[in-house]
Amino acid sequence: KGLLENKVCIITGGAGPRGIGKAAARLFHEHGAIVVIADLDLDKSREAAADVSSERTMGVVCDVTDKASCEAAAKAVADQYGHIDVLINNAGITQPLKTMEITPENYEQVTDVSLRGMLYMSQAVLPYMVEQKGGAIVNTSSVSAQRGGGIFGGPHYSAAKAGMLGLSKAMAREFGAHNIRVNSVTPGLIQTDITGGKLTDEMKTQILTGIPLNRLGDADDVARGFLFLASELSSYTTGAALDINGGMHM
Ligand code: NAD
Repeated sequence: KGLLENKVCIITGGAGPRGIGKAAARLFHEHGAIVVIADLDLDKSREAAADVSSERTMGVVCDVTDKASCEAAAKAVADQYGHIDVLINNAGITQPLKTMEITPENYEQVTDVSLRGMLYMSQAVLPYMVEQKGGAIVNTSSVSAQRGGGIFGGPHYSAAKAGMLGLSKAMAREFGAHNIRVNSVTPGLIQTDITGGKLTDEMKTQILTGIPLNRLGDADDVARGFLFLASELSSYTTGAALDINGGMHM
């Protein structure tokens, strides 16, 4: 306990009730963090924050695809708490399309949230982290980036998530001298709203044959990976990608 004592941690896309971001918000709160949930809808962000705790949490509105919205969210957090220590780039959407089905709009929607959103939100918090000479950014990529597809994500999702790995390493290189660490996680199949309800028993049995740990992941599995990379437990780790996939890709 106490791995993130008084650290101000922004989690994008944290308002989904069963999502990875929400699980991270709970775990970070248990570890003493001040947790900010930044999602598309202000009321939902506030509700999710209040659901974690009535104290030391904040909900802000943020569309990560909009640079001004990211800057406004970061400023609101800095005005409130005076520092920003951790950014978890967790917002993401997926579309189960095949290559020839992807329209220009589909491409933009999916790459905008994961990849452009990661850049804009990082740009919004980095000035504060540089000023305070330290910080940690964790980016939510996917096993889809490594395998060229998961179960639900289309090729544009794989591309966006692979792009995140490159951007993450480039930022790690650039900001290491500022004592800012930048890492990624590559979750496998995690049971959340993105995947929930879409899996038949037959699909599940088939999927499990490819997962050595013989179970799907849950949001807490990923939250613990975030905690490692956000905290001093990973003090000498930057530019890395942590696989959280039960062994489905190795
Ligand atoms: P989720 O749908 O519960 O969470 C995604 C959240 O992102 C939602 O709350 C949504 O409102 C928010 N969001 C969407 N567009 C946004 C925008 N423009 N600005 C701000 N917020 C926005 O899904 P989840 O499964 O918890 O996914 C979290 C992250 O993990 C995503 O990046 C996803 O791609 C990634 N991931 C999920 C799995 C999985 O199996 N569930 C596997 C690998 C990676």
